[in-house]
Amino acid sequence: MSRRTVLKIAGVSALVVTFLPRMAFAARNSLLGLRSGAQPGNKTRLVIETSSRPSYSLDYLTEPARLVVNLSNTSGDTGIKPSLASGTLIKSISQEQVGDKLQVIATLTKSISEIPKNQILVLDPNGDSGYRLALDFTAGGSSASASAASTAAASKEQSKARKPIIVIDAGHGGKDPGAISKAGTREKDIVLKVAKKLKDKLDANGYRTYMTRDKDIFLNLDTRAGIAEKNHADLFISLHANANPSRQMRGFSIYTLSKKASDEEAQKLADAENAADKIEVDGFARFEPNIRNALSALQQHAVSELSVEFANGVTTTFKKAGIIQQPGPALRQAPFGVLRSTIPGALVELGHLSHAEEEKLLKTNDHQDKLVAAIVKAIGKYDFDV
Ligand SMILES: [Zn+2]
Repeated sequence: MSRRTVLKIAGVSALVVTFLPRMAFAARNSLLGLRSGAQPGNKTRLVIETSSRPSYSLDYLTEPARLVVNLSNTSGDTGIKPSLASGTLIKSISQEQVGDKLQVIATLTKSISEIPKNQILVLDPNGDSGYRLALDFTAGGSSASASAASTAAASKEQSKARKPIIVIDAGHGGKDPGAISKAGTREKDIVLKVAKKLKDKLDANGYRTYMTRDKDIFLNLDTRAGIAEKNHADLFISLHANANPSRQMRGFSIYTLSKKASDEEAQKLADAENAADKIEVDGFARFEPNIRNALSALQQHAVSELSVEFANGVTTTFKKAGIIQQPGPALRQAPFGVLRSTIPGALVELGHLSHAEEEKLLKTNDHQDKLVAAIVKAIGKYDFDV
């Protein structure tokens, strides 16, 4: 029995459960369906459909390898026949009622080592389906599970060995300059400079990083989000600089994805940032169908919670570094195209190019370094290890 495996999976369940609203425990839940499916990247998906939002924890058993999903306050239905796709890691799915708790047990053909928290989705009801808890995983960890002597300390070492993957997105580029100051400073140039500095600092700190662009080229928003998906990023950071009709307005602001804007200003900003895609008429890259499906429900509970956690972290380190914050809500939300992915992330407006003093500041190495240091600090505090 692999200690590491159990710890990893236990960690996931502990964290995810805390995201769920307390309300979830009040209503009696019932099982509506069970199925497995194959996902790109050799992933297996287990889907558990329920009448109410599920409250759950995960266990992992070996010999044979079994993934156990404990659904609290849920009644099973032995009449439900699981629908099993071929070529996945799931051999069979069974139910076991233990008092108020329903255990859904997926027997696996191979052992798995972890389920990253961004691979657990709770999708809202949609059309004929109820709530769906979807867990994606791949085979792995055979060497780790073979080692029975593996200790908690060793497991810590192991998880440290995996470098978190961060995708840095410098906004705009090429024919899309973004905001332009009165003096002619272009958003696309400022954010690229900061993005390069951020990459250097993160690389030096042992992260694996990718940039959506490292030169002055145009990319549409889906392509940017797609780069994060393709690289299986743990975190996505989109860097921007703002402009406001009022030349008095200044300060940074931080945004996460939501279907609806948190306020009118956030909506206006999202419209402006999303406008980049209207420049490109042809060659409009689209998400793979499976990602689009997940997004159509747009209730990726874990992803949005993690994004907010990260965004709040950045706000804190910016304020601690003495970087001026734009008046208004500390964290805003809006439907930004570039954040539309299954990767947790945030869009950071570093400051206002329309504010004369702040524009000057944004151009200086000192201030850019300060911004970068604060973002690195926030990333350092962000909990990747789940
Ligand atoms: Zn921008």
